Amino acid sequence: MRTQVGIIGAGPAGLMLSHLLHRQGIESVVLEAHTRQYVEQRVRAGVLEQNTTELLIETGVGARLQKEGLVHRGIELSFAGERHRIDFQDLIGRSITVYGQQEVIKDLIAARVTAGGQIYFEARGISLEGLDGPTPAIRFEADGERRELHCDFIAGCDGSHGISRASIPEGALQTFERIYPFAWLGILAEAPPASEEIIYTYHERGFALFSMRSPQITRLYLQCAPDEDIALWPDERIWQELHTRMGTRDGWRPSEGPILQKGVTGVRSLVTEPMQYGRLFLAGDSAHIVPPTGAKGMNLAIADVRVLAKGLAAFYASGSRKLLDEYSTTCLSRVWKVQRFSWWMTSMLHRCDTGDGFDHRRQLAELDYVTSSRAAAASLAENYVGLPMEGTTPRANTCEIVR
Ligand SMILES: Cc1cc2nc3c(=O)[nH]c(=O)nc-3n(C[C@H](O)[C@H](O)[C@H](O)COP(=O)(O)OP(=O)(O)OC[C@H]3O[C@@H](n4cnc5c(N)ncnc54)[C@H](O)[C@@H]3O)c2cc1C
Repeated sequence: MRTQVGIIGAGPAGLMLSHLLHRQGIESVVLEAHTRQYVEQRVRAGVLEQNTTELLIETGVGARLQKEGLVHRGIELSFAGERHRIDFQDLIGRSITVYGQQEVIKDLIAARVTAGGQIYFEARGISLEGLDGPTPAIRFEADGERRELHCDFIAGCDGSHGISRASIPEGALQTFERIYPFAWLGILAEAPPASEEIIYTYHERGFALFSMRSPQITRLYLQCAPDEDIALWPDERIWQELHTRMGTRDGWRPSEGPILQKGVTGVRSLVTEPMQYGRLFLAGDSAHIVPPTGAKGMNLAIADVRVLAKGLAAFYASGSRKLLDEYSTTCLSRVWKVQRFSWWMTSMLHRCDTGDGFDHRRQLAELDYVTSSRAAAASLAENYVGLPMEGTTPRANTCEIVR
């Protein structure tokens, strides 16, 4: 088999890359280890930066997003029993959209299938060959047959546990990592969201996050130990803890409902440098992980493939490798700014006990500052809504684009 770009992984990075390449007349084949149903049901992120929303709409995969996405003009920070609003609209004139990652995946798969794009689900035993030569290849097994896919380039979009990063020879990459001493216990509950906006809570017992995926489904998180045993968290204990941490003096608390899903996710930062080796390009979680506090993982994955698609389009149009050679440098400049923001949000909002109360008081002071200084609030807003993509200028807010 032969294609121009072989893509490993049908997550947001892999599918969006395939979609963008198709729009430039470049052929690709996507290889995914799981079934279509599995990837379409996998609940993960749900906050779209304005950049991401605009790209989905502008490239023709935003119709359902425009109907079902929830436009948020701000977020709330809650501490010491009070909620404080960060008004994105007022501060920077931009906004975010809440739309589940699994919905983005469904829309992208539908677009690829309609356009006749090739996606092999349940592709097994993938291995990469000849990465530093002119014709790399991917060996894999699908529909009970061993296959070999020859490509001009390979995009490793297979997440943090994929094989792409691991296929690069030892010593060719540098990894920067920070593992935080806590994790998130997350639930999905069948309960209409008790607030229209996302609420980040700092409490003496730890961080808590109130979010939503639709007008019927609430998504909630609690800071917990990295090795937390989910079996020790029956539903009543989860609700009690959520009410204790999130309840404010005005009587607000999240509304309860049947818990549809629960799980514990570690919190870590990781950056791989460079993000390319020979004809292999890493994109999304295969190259970097951000703590979920800044809601950036999926957005960063999409930002990477935007850069990669542009580089590949330039190569096929003119033979120039300039943009491809600059791929890592261009992406890493954004990746590190996003890491900084995600680390900052994480450090401000999680309990990380040193035992002497210093950090607790510093964090309260920081929250007080962010919610009382227009300059500090605007900095949070600018990063949360999404820094402009290289070569673009920020545009009107999402409300006008979506509605
Ligand atoms: C459990 C979890 C919860 C998360 N929750 C949040 C959240 O609440 N908020 C937030 O902002 N971000 C969250 N994230 C982060 C966000 O979902 C990711 O940053 C985003 O999915 C990255 O997209 P990606 O395409 O790079 O990788 P992925 O979405 O991981 O996609 C990679 C794809 O590659 C496939 N794959 C892996 N290995 C192979 C292989 N060997 N061969 C073929 N295919 C392979 C995988 O099945 C997957 O479909 C979460 C991540 C995880 C893992």
